Amino acid sequence: MIERPRSHAAFARAKKVIPGGVNSPARAFGAVGGEPLFIKKAQGAYLWDEDGHRYLDYIQSWGPMILGHAHPAVVEAVIEAVHAGSSYGAPCEKETELAEMICEAVPSVEMVRMVSSGTEAAMSAIRLARGYTGRNVIIKFAGCYHGHVDALLVSAGSSALTLGVPSSPGVPAGATQDTIVLEYNNVPALQETFRQRGDEIAGVMLEPVVGNMGLVVPSAEFRAELRRLTHQYGALLIYDEVMTGFRLSYGGAQALLGDTPDVSVFGKVIGGGYPVGAYGGKREVMSKVMPAGPVFQAGTLSGNPVAMAAGIATLKQLKQNPPYEKLDRLSQMIEQGLKQRAEQAGIPHQFNRVGSMWTFFFTATPVVDLTSAKTSDTKKFGQFFWGMMDRGVYLPCSQFEAAFTSAAHTEADIQHTLDAAQSVFSEMIR
Ligand SMILES: *Cc1c(COP(=O)(O)O)cnc(C)c1O
Repeated sequence: MIERPRSHAAFARAKKVIPGGVNSPARAFGAVGGEPLFIKKAQGAYLWDEDGHRYLDYIQSWGPMILGHAHPAVVEAVIEAVHAGSSYGAPCEKETELAEMICEAVPSVEMVRMVSSGTEAAMSAIRLARGYTGRNVIIKFAGCYHGHVDALLVSAGSSALTLGVPSSPGVPAGATQDTIVLEYNNVPALQETFRQRGDEIAGVMLEPVVGNMGLVVPSAEFRAELRRLTHQYGALLIYDEVMTGFRLSYGGAQALLGDTPDVSVFGKVIGGGYPVGAYGGKREVMSKVMPAGPVFQAGTLSGNPVAMAAGIATLKQLKQNPPYEKLDRLSQMIEQGLKQRAEQAGIPHQFNRVGSMWTFFFTATPVVDLTSAKTSDTKKFGQFFWGMMDRGVYLPCSQFEAAFTSAAHTEADIQHTLDAAQSVFSEMIR
């Protein structure tokens, strides 16, 4: 393994004053063993660590950097915004401009409220669903992540229906007693739950394409039943597009799939690398949000002008020069190349992909939900991860996270990735 003494020292220093040395557990490399890299700079498709190694980056800040790092148009917009002051505590037109761009891109969204993270947006969407319907129960799906919202931090247990078991100390049972967890893609469980408790259900929240248990695709029947049942019982259908929004298409997963949720949650790409989240939907529903309506929600830095500038610049690039075909083509090259090399090496695998989001699972079982995702050989994944890392390819440090291709990646980058994978695979079967 390549030595990384500066990252090692930086991690030791960080651990003294930051719990676990990181400000978000996804960065800690806990699932693959070893220590995280400390990053010195990022440009385009690449990261450089403190030890001066360069890596081809398939995390892209866990999704936001769809244009690649430090895109000139975004950098320029941010610098211009900073010179005009960092925060006003009063409205500015950039907030309306980004809101208009989101509403134009996503037809199911007629009004939108800016917040500062995906977590905050998901939390607020749940409150809105409850406030709007006057009901309490929320359905979520095992393996979907909606940020660290108390009510949604529920045991991602693999049984079809797990009721309200908090998965973190500090989340009281009371906070999750109205949360029902179902298995993703399980249509009978969904139907049965609505049959039993339909008139108590405020909303159903899901990732319309899941990134947070590795990449998992919804079945057409699952999506159709979600829409039909929520209509029938008067519950809100909430698509968490924090990861998929403006990534799978300019209109997100819903535009790609042709779906119309009632409420949508955004983050990641809409902030262009800055802390932004948003939730939006039909005018009638969003009009319940304070001060238009009674459902409270607020934020000192919400709609921050610098973050808005980064978001606007990012969306402008995506709209004027759509990278989606290129992203799909490059990601398809990765899919075909990795599958072919794994087959040659005799390594059991599944490759799940939608557009530029993808996961290579070390299992022979098709992955359609959390239970099947968990059949992956995570030890093999760890070997693969470090083998790729030592060859300059930075993949998500967990089997249960999607990888992202960015518009800054090139065919040469993909070829390098496939060459590296071939070398790692042959090492793994030796
Ligand atoms: C990342 C993510 C979140 C949480 O967003 P944060 O900005 O990390 O709070 C919520 N939902 C989904 C689907 C995500 O991928």
